[in-house]
Amino acid sequence: MGANALIEDIRADVVILGGGITGLWLLAHLRARGYAAVLCEARALGAGQTLCSQGIIHGGLKYALGGALSEASRALTHMPARWRDCLEGARTPDLRGARLLSAHQYLVSGWRLAGFLASRMLQGRVNRVDSGQVPEPFAAALGPSARGGVYQLDEPVVDVRSVLAALGHAHADALLAVDADGTRLLQDAGDVTGLEVRDREGRRLRILGGHVVLCAGAGNEGLGRMIPSGAAPMQRRPLCMVMLRGALPELYAHWLGTGAAPRVTVTSHRDARGTPVWYVGGELAESGVAREPEAQVRRAREELSRLVPGVDLASCAGAVLSVDRAEGRHASGQRPDGPVLARAGAVTQVWPTKLAFAPLVAEQVEARLSLGGMRPGRCPMPSTQGWPRPALAPLPWDEARAWC
Ligand SMILES: Cc1cc2nc3c(=O)[nH]c(=O)nc-3n(C[C@H](O)[C@H](O)[C@H](O)COP(=O)(O)OP(=O)(O)OC[C@H]3O[C@@H](n4cnc5c(N)ncnc54)[C@H](O)[C@@H]3O)c2cc1C
Repeated sequence: MGANALIEDIRADVVILGGGITGLWLLAHLRARGYAAVLCEARALGAGQTLCSQGIIHGGLKYALGGALSEASRALTHMPARWRDCLEGARTPDLRGARLLSAHQYLVSGWRLAGFLASRMLQGRVNRVDSGQVPEPFAAALGPSARGGVYQLDEPVVDVRSVLAALGHAHADALLAVDADGTRLLQDAGDVTGLEVRDREGRRLRILGGHVVLCAGAGNEGLGRMIPSGAAPMQRRPLCMVMLRGALPELYAHWLGTGAAPRVTVTSHRDARGTPVWYVGGELAESGVAREPEAQVRRAREELSRLVPGVDLASCAGAVLSVDRAEGRHASGQRPDGPVLARAGAVTQVWPTKLAFAPLVAEQVEARLSLGGMRPGRCPMPSTQGWPRPALAPLPWDEARAWC
């Protein structure tokens, strides 16, 4: 096939751009309901924010720490149960092939969370851990006179890469690897009629008749410029995450500072060789964007040494990951309370705001398709045989080179 040759036209109900959690979950959701949907990925599955995430399936507890239930907290309430159902195979998409890292997380506080615990909506979802039952890493840090305590939050942590692998494997026949610079919206008198994509060898494919859903994270900004009637604005909020690699115990915890937002959040993972990795976020990662990488690693070591003095952090290697959270723009510049969806004719832009919201986003997109008159079964699933498939991206700690 010569360069730039048009190999064929196919028809689909929905074309998704972007193979992070949003795109893959949406693909699985729509196909389970009978829509002919395909997904185009320009780099590798999970290559955006998704594999940089900590995999925490928030249920809104973190956002209810002040005692009042925020909109974000309410919107997230049902997400842990929803994900658990999928991990157990009780709902679609079937995520039995994916791995749960931890069924819950701990929250460590120097002050008593009376307002937080008093909320009826939170009862059963957060429990104070009796002092005799405080897990080893925190017991030493808190000491007998600590006024606050350790709380167990009913929020799971998933192995995100295994979630993407399960979704990608189940829908491999609908995945297309495309060249980021070769995508264009097809138009007829200002109306979007489909999408043209190109693979790395220059072959072109036109996907006709479908609604186009932009799930490309930060990539939505560039793709949005193609929308004839104009795109919804996006915001970026930068983070400087820390990775610590060495002989570390398994830990999934938030530590509160003086405010209601977690100062430090730790999740535990393993690199490709099986060595434990602590992935450190929270307010430390937000303020860390102003620090040099070595200073940020040093700060993380110092803070964690105080919080878990029994853990040997000095012999761990450390590295940073600078990454932006890409979100639909919020007037305040702060995190939106929930997913942001913006529809312009036959194109919808989507930013989930949180990985945890992926199931909700899929339902919201489907509801909008339905409102627009689209029904499943309009066209058969197109064959994309012979087109290259995107690979699964590596995890940040397997890619990081500059360890100190
Ligand atoms: C450090 C960090 C930690 C986080 N931790 C959590 C957490 O613990 N829990 C939680 O709920 N949320 C968390 N989040 C938020 C969460 O990661 C994101 O909301 C979510 O992953 C966004 O998923 P997405 O699929 O919309 O976008 P992305 O994951 O960014 O995926 C976009 C995809 O689109 C592809 N793409 C880009 N341009 C194009 C193009 N032109 N054509 C085709 N494809 C394209 C990219 O290669 C990528 O694969 C975290 C975010 C960060 C940055």
